[in-house]
Order: sequence, then structure tokens, then C-alpha cells
Amino acid sequence: MKVKDIMKPNPITLTLQNSLKDLIEIFRENEIGSVIIVDQKKEPYQIVTLRDLSRICFLNLFTDSILEALKELNKDKNSLITVSPNDSYIEALSLMKKFNISHLPVVNQKKKLVGILSIRDIAKNFPELIFIDPLTEVNNRAYLNIINTKIKKINGPATILMIDIDNFKEINDTFGHVVGDKVLKKLAQTLRKNVKITDEVIRYGGEEFLIIAYRCDLEEGKILAERLRKRVEDIKFNKICPKFKITVSIGISIYEPQEDLLTAIEKADKAMYKAKQKGKNRVEVFENSLSS
Ligand code: GH3
Ligand code: MG
Ligand code: MG
Repeated sequence: MKVKDIMKPNPITLTLQNSLKDLIEIFRENEIGSVIIVDQKKEPYQIVTLRDLSRICFLNLFTDSILEALKELNKDKNSLITVSPNDSYIEALSLMKKFNISHLPVVNQKKKLVGILSIRDIAKNFPELIFIDPLTEVNNRAYLNIINTKIKKINGPATILMIDIDNFKEINDTFGHVVGDKVLKKLAQTLRKNVKITDEVIRYGGEEFLIIAYRCDLEEGKILAERLRKRVEDIKFNKICPKFKITVSIGISIYEPQEDLLTAIEKADKAMYKAKQKGKNRVEVFENSLSS
């Protein structure tokens, strides 16, 4: 599925010659989340979102120029992010999340405006996508809300693994963020491949992943964690450097039925921290004595 399958064609536009009053009127008259400002060549110059509107209303007391208002909002032509109709919507979503924006103008090869893509339209078409981390393509932290309901309906214990890459900052510092991102992707794929299809793999934070293995007790959980630790150690990154390796520290906790999921995650986090303290690249189980 591509951007062109989801975007709305013929978005509402104004020119830099229009006034701020026109802009405010357009938002008032239409139920829209954004207006695209175009230049003389009809190429998009900037996008004004509902989020910008309250500041624009305030500016309207001092100026009537859209250009002035855009300057105040720190939005110049160069800061405009666009996508093309043939881009994948996952890439577009990734840009939206990265730059914290809700709308993207869609332009063709000649830079002419052909549509607008909003995060709301993506969510309407693919509600599940909102729970997917665009970089690693595993679930994101927001998905925990869904699991919270799901896990209560499942009888039996579940094992929670908190997995954190060792010395990841050093990897970024030595090889750069692009390589760091590739490492994250590869790690996520490795985790996904080595757990059951019904288990959950979640990117919990920057370089922290959470695994929830259903109907898995502590003994099975320990075997799983150890297997994952080894699989990660064995990942080859020949393109980066043949000798390059990553390792992870893993904390384990058991989710007891009806327990609060976040409490169980906190326990796994504490156990992971213990694994770091004990020298990294190892698995530790949460014990009550850790809670102090
Ligand atoms: P430790 O072994 O104790 O876990 O040390 P660490 O260096 O792995 O941990 P630290 O928390 O100091 O650093 C985590 C780093 O992860 C810092 C941050 O820049 C990086 N990071 C977080 N998210 C991303 C991302 O999306 N891409 C890349 N490339 N780096 C990220
Ligand atoms: Mg960390
Ligand atoms: Mg780390």
C-alpha cells in the first residue's frame, strides 16, 4: 500500500498573498486539520496545522501576513517535509513520528502538490499500524494497553523479558546513528524470529525490547532468555565489520494472573539492571530482595 492509496487529493490551499484572516476563516468553515500554503509556482511552501492555529490567532493581532506568521512559527520553505505518491505509507508514518507532525503534503516528481496525507487517515485505514514502531516494525510501547486487557484473559503465567543492548551508546558513537538504527532493526528481527508467533515483541524504549511469552513458566522463561542471548551474540554484521558483535542483558520476571502488567515489567527491568551490574551479556531473574 502506498501514500497515493490513502492520501486525500486536491487539498485546500492558500497562497502567501492571502491574509491571516483568510487562513483562520478556512479552518472555521471546513473540518480540516491543515491548510497548505503554496507559492507562485503552485508548489507547496508550508503547511499550517490546527496545532499552529492558536499561535496564528494571536499573531493576527500584530500582522496580517501569512509569510510573517510562518516566520514566527519558524516554518520556512526549507523546513517543509513532503512525501511522494509512490512512497510506502510506513515510510510516511515513520517521518511523521520522527518529526512529530500530523500532516504531510504529497508532491509529484515536478514538486506539484497532488494531495495531503494525515496521520488520522493512516490510522483509519490501518489502526494496528499506530501500534507499530516504524524503525524496527515490531510493536511499540503504546501496544501495552492492548496487551494489558489481553493478558488478563489468558490463564496461566507469562514470562516477561526486558532486553537491553549492552554499550549501545558506544556503537552509535563509533559507527554513527545509521549503523545504530540497523543494529536495532536486526536485533528486533532476531528476537521476532526466535519466539513463538503468539508471543509479543515490543520496542519498549530506544534500545530496550520487551518480550511477553504467554503460558511460559520461569524454567521455560530462563531457557528462552538464554537462547535469545546466544542468538543475539551470533548475529553477523558483515557489512559493518566482520568482527562486530552485539550483546544484550536480559531481566526476567513472571507475570502472575491478575497481576498488574506494569508491575511485572518493572520487576523485569530491575532484574535487567542486575544483569548490567553483574557484567552485562547475561540473564538475571527478578527476586524479591531486588525490590529494596
Ligand atoms: P548499557 O550497556 O548500560 O545499557 O549502556 P548503553 O550505552 O547501551 O545505554 P545508554 O542508555 O547509555 O545509551 C542508550 C543509547 O541508545 C543512547 C541513545 O542515543 C541510543 N538510542 C536510543 N534510541 C535510538 C535509535 O532509535 N537509534 C539509534 N541509533 N540510537 C538510539
Ligand atoms: Mg537502555
Ligand atoms: Mg543499553
